[in-house]
Amino acid sequence: MLVDCARRAVADGAADVEEQADRHAAAFAASLVGDVINATGVLLHTNLGRAPVPMVSSGRPTNLEFDTVTGTRGSRHAAVSSLLSVLTGAEAAVVVNNNAAAVMLVLAALAHGRDVAVSRGESVEIGGGFRIPDVMEQSGARLVDVGTTNRTGAADYAKAIASPRNDIALVMRVHPSNFSVEGFVSSAPLRELAGLGVPVVADIGSGLLDSTCPWLHGRTDGVPAFLRNEPAVRQSLEDGAAIVTFSGDKLLGGPQCGIIAGRADLVATCASHPLMRALRPGGHTLQLLQAALLSFAARTACDDIAFWRMLALDAGVVRDRAEAVVSAAGAGSVVPVSALVGAGSAPGAVLPSFAVAVDGDVSARLRACALPVVARVDRGVTLLDLRTVDPADDAAVVAALASL
Ligand SMILES: *Cc1c(COP(=O)(O)O)cnc(C)c1O
Repeated sequence: MLVDCARRAVADGAADVEEQADRHAAAFAASLVGDVINATGVLLHTNLGRAPVPMVSSGRPTNLEFDTVTGTRGSRHAAVSSLLSVLTGAEAAVVVNNNAAAVMLVLAALAHGRDVAVSRGESVEIGGGFRIPDVMEQSGARLVDVGTTNRTGAADYAKAIASPRNDIALVMRVHPSNFSVEGFVSSAPLRELAGLGVPVVADIGSGLLDSTCPWLHGRTDGVPAFLRNEPAVRQSLEDGAAIVTFSGDKLLGGPQCGIIAGRADLVATCASHPLMRALRPGGHTLQLLQAALLSFAARTACDDIAFWRMLALDAGVVRDRAEAVVSAAGAGSVVPVSALVGAGSAPGAVLPSFAVAVDGDVSARLRACALPVVARVDRGVTLLDLRTVDPADDAAVVAALASL
């Protein structure tokens, strides 16, 4: 790599050829995947890897597909499946690489060569090229548009199911995660769709396990208002969804993965589809997901899961930390700001927070620190929101500010 940097510096024809080679080497070093400090105030920042999770592995082999009781082959999905059953009421669950893969697998396994009814208001793009009509086409299922962009009722789905021109295998609900529409709009309640005689797949996206958030009880002032508009796994299943698909690294706060939960027979059909072999996650992902699910079960999610820790943090505590950072660094001032959930979850929802404000745009210099600090710049002021910074990294933020 260094020889390559030197050659490129020579080819550049720069007068300061050694410094130029250093710059190429530094640019390569900065391109390596590594730690940063998220001071953006966006809790789930897709560019910063969404939910932060620690790497935990002894480095030993694991019983990933081995039953230590019988000494025979086991299933890599068994443990998370039983945890998800307890946490959400799902009969069974399987895990794939991300939620895009979960949706693709569900459609391929349950509707290949058949029709899937989707409301015109839910034929959405989630971001990063994930568009419902395109995923549908790739899965081999056919999209049947029902209703209108702003209003779709249960009768619209019923009409599509009854039509002799269609062969509807599934009704699919897609949560329009990253936008909201206001005005003359309505969609059919899940409960009504569940009565139409066709399995309903609900792609809820962000993966709130239970809308009552039992792991928050006694921790904060109850369930934050912005979570009330988020669909949840347990309640979607209670309302009659046969399958729910969701991400592991959004509101669940775990590693990148996608989860298919619901009726045991349908989950088994997904699990035995040839695509499953291509989409299955590695052992580290399953161990991290298992750790997150155990924390929800033990109701210690607000201590153990970084995302829920950041979310449950009292704004006054964030302000005290910001004040301590300002006085230790001898730079900046404390200002109130609004943090965001991010990752397309709870669009428009804000959490009260506090930031260290520094005049001018110093974001590039903060990113150039050994442990890069990613801040945001608003109207010529650099803001470091401490809600998304691990308190253990406050000292690194102080050092970064002092270095300015
Ligand atoms: C985020 C999201 C996806 C994609 O999930 P990834 O885990 O990012 O692949 C799919 N559907 C919905 C509704 C989403 O919100």
